[in-house]
Amino acid sequence: MQIGVVGLGLIGGSLGYDLRRSDHQVWGLSRNPATCDRAIALGICDCASDVITKIPDLGSTDLIVICTPIASILPTLGQLVHHLSAHTVVTDVGSVKEVIVASAEQLWSKFVGSHPMAGTALQGIEAAQANLFSDRPCVITPTPQTDPNALALVKTFWQELGTKLLECSPQNHDLAVAGISHLPVFVSASLISACTTEPNLEVLELAQALASSGFKDTSRVGGGNPELGRCMAEFNHAALLLKLDRYQASLEQVISWIRQQDWEQVEDFLTNTQSDRAKFVPLG
Ligand code: NAP
Repeated sequence: MQIGVVGLGLIGGSLGYDLRRSDHQVWGLSRNPATCDRAIALGICDCASDVITKIPDLGSTDLIVICTPIASILPTLGQLVHHLSAHTVVTDVGSVKEVIVASAEQLWSKFVGSHPMAGTALQGIEAAQANLFSDRPCVITPTPQTDPNALALVKTFWQELGTKLLECSPQNHDLAVAGISHLPVFVSASLISACTTEPNLEVLELAQALASSGFKDTSRVGGGNPELGRCMAEFNHAALLLKLDRYQASLEQVISWIRQQDWEQVEDFLTNTQSDRAKFVPLG
């Protein structure tokens, strides 16, 4: 296939590595000309430009994957549609689906929303890596308006990359990821923030020196891409607020047990969370 990747950062660049290894023809489009040159040098794309009209043979493109920050996905699609052949299918990788899919399918009838659940705390083209998507869940969010042939092509695309494919409505996607992806970003960021407010410099420096695997695990997503975190909050705010309210209630309950020195309740709570964790993250 001829595949276009728009937004050559962590996700777009990682896609390029895997697609070229599978013998697809890949063109790239990114905001910064230096990023486009770097993508060619790294072997992420066959060709790349910051100007859509400079992409050779654009009309033969089978599939375009928009990998820009969430806020730029719809404006990017709005510009692309003036240059596409009617057969070209477009998907995106945005971490939020309802606001994107509702407008995107009005702009382009062959649009299908996607979200691969893969990433690192890094950003930009230098963070791109091969095999990022292998064995990771990927959600496709069709609606009653979705073109069946476009849906079939997007499914095949993600399956070829080795993802574990799931399908749901854009609304259910946003509710589910608000809990397991967007809430953790703000919990983890608040954890880092709480640790940095230690007023005793000696204790603060000791804590920084002692921070090990537990802090590394729990702080990872709070120490990630700030633009991505802001977009999660901005474009999925209703679902995120719902989860934050539940989290706050849970935290207040824990504070109350600790104030009352009710260690039985504390242990029961942790016994339940210990077994519940395996329902989200299989042990081993
Ligand atoms: P990223 O590393 O910051 O990459 C995005 C790249 O897009 C930037 O490096 C920038 O490259 C380019 N760009 C920015 N605005 C653009 C525009 N208007 N037109 C064309 N290119 C533009 O971010 P990312 O982590 O890859 O995230 C990209 C998308 O993937 C987001 O929608 C996010 O929700 C989704 N996603 C992220 C993760 C994750 O964990 N990171 C996981 C799943 C999905 P230059 O300025 O250098 O050209």
